[in-house]
Amino acid sequence: MDPLNFAICGGGVGGVSIGALLAKNGQNVALFERLGYLGGCSGTFGRNGNFYNAGATTFVGLSSGLPLDVLSRRTGVSFPVVEIDPAIVVHIMGKTIRRFRNMERFVLEMENAFPGYPHRSVFQKIRLRAEKFWPGLTSFDGVDQGKIRSFLRPLFSRPDIFLLHSPDFFRSTLSFLQSSYGVFPPELKRFFDHQLLITAQGFSDHVPLFAGILGLTYPNLDNYTVMGGMGRAIESLSQLIPGVYLNHPVKKIQKKRGKFLVTAGKDEWETENVILNRTIWDLDSVLDQDLLDQLRPRLKGPDFHGVGAFVIYFMVEDVFGADFELHHQIILDDENPVTKSQSFFLSLSHPDDPVLSRSGMRSVTISTHTPVSIWEDRTRENILEKRSVATNQILESLYRAIPLFRSARKGEIISGTPKTFEKYTGRSRGTVGGIPVVHPNFPFRFPSSVVSEGIYLVGDTVFPGQGWPGVVIGALNLFGILRDQGRMG
Ligand SMILES: Cc1cc2nc3c(=O)[nH]c(=O)nc-3n(C[C@H](O)[C@H](O)[C@H](O)COP(=O)(O)OP(=O)(O)OC[C@H]3O[C@@H](n4cnc5c(N)ncnc54)[C@H](O)[C@@H]3O)c2cc1C
Repeated sequence: MDPLNFAICGGGVGGVSIGALLAKNGQNVALFERLGYLGGCSGTFGRNGNFYNAGATTFVGLSSGLPLDVLSRRTGVSFPVVEIDPAIVVHIMGKTIRRFRNMERFVLEMENAFPGYPHRSVFQKIRLRAEKFWPGLTSFDGVDQGKIRSFLRPLFSRPDIFLLHSPDFFRSTLSFLQSSYGVFPPELKRFFDHQLLITAQGFSDHVPLFAGILGLTYPNLDNYTVMGGMGRAIESLSQLIPGVYLNHPVKKIQKKRGKFLVTAGKDEWETENVILNRTIWDLDSVLDQDLLDQLRPRLKGPDFHGVGAFVIYFMVEDVFGADFELHHQIILDDENPVTKSQSFFLSLSHPDDPVLSRSGMRSVTISTHTPVSIWEDRTRENILEKRSVATNQILESLYRAIPLFRSARKGEIISGTPKTFEKYTGRSRGTVGGIPVVHPNFPFRFPSSVVSEGIYLVGDTVFPGQGWPGVVIGALNLFGILRDQGRMG
């Protein structure tokens, strides 16, 4: 076997994005994935002839200059998407708020749901900031976010934006909303908090305004559904990579005579560089002890945050009609006693989806946050019991919020806990969703993408920001680091 320039461990969004960028630039790349399919938290899996998105369902950021557009232009890959508007419908206290792309239409929805508040002027302020922040994200190119000076470089390269907005890195979104609204009642806070939870993984008290603005305006960007499931978007990228090895778990990485030896499946590969698409809490299991001892001082990052996902999947009879919105966030009046979450997210496949929607049925993925510790009981019976109670409670909340679901014919109901994510993605204790972009993690407590010369990290616990946009910016940025370090052969 020819020595590789790059061996990538893991076929999530991060692994395939950096793999496609490197392959497009003529690098000899091999990607090793432990499962029989790619995608991890953004995969699409099959069960009994039906297909479901495992986690991610929303696809955003293909407009000119945004992360997925940059990735698409640099790799030449186009994604099988259909645009959707509104991006999501929020259900709160018996009201619905459709998050239209057009800000004015969305403001009218807010005025209907929460009359008497200055939504228009608040969202004008938010929009002005967003127009500066979104395009600025892709200026992270070759930046080591683990080093303060390096992280500040792109910010100083645009002093006009930086000087005007640097307080937004340190100010909380809540303080901005309170001062902008004047009177800010708990139900409005709940609405904003749960919008932020989807993107920044935190509530307005702790999410810095910079990240809050991005989170609150993602529905005002172009939003899409991926036809055939999110796994199809991953496959579009992976086709550029010359060597994709499925069912090849990386078991060991050693350093010998200046090169790395990667043991994946039953084989061994020699490579100049290794890219780990693993969480920062999962490196012990692949790095050889000697290597780990040398590198441990560099493997810094926030402590394990312990947040996982509880998911429900099923097929449902298509009683909805072509105009029914695909994504819904249901904000609960009370915390779910089992999962401890106060909202959940439901996505329905597009009616014309050739893989997910079949024979008059559509595929549903429901997900909600949950602490991983809740699911770490010792007995399997106990977990199964909790899983069943949580599933029934979430479905009952769904039927109250969107009654159409109650009577619609449903197929097998499948639910998954953080234990399920641990089994299928190999993520430590089933933790998902990246490192929350909250104080005090942001801006300076994110790990470096550079573990040492020749070993790099990509994925949602590395670059600040999760989901496709965040992980892809991390991959584009890592590509810049590899270019600047002269690692490409
Ligand atoms: C429930 C849920 C809903 C979400 N919703 C959205 C959404 O709507 N939109 C959005 O943009 N984002 C969403 N996200 C976030 C998004 O899915 C993730 O941030 C992203 O997919 C993480 O990608 P990653 O590159 O970090 O890799 P991961 O998804 O963690 O994938 C890592 C891959 O590495 C493989 N692997 C692990 N160990 C090894 C090994 N030793 N050898 C070989 N392979 C290995 C795993 O099998 C896996 O395929 C959601 C996440 C969850 C959990």
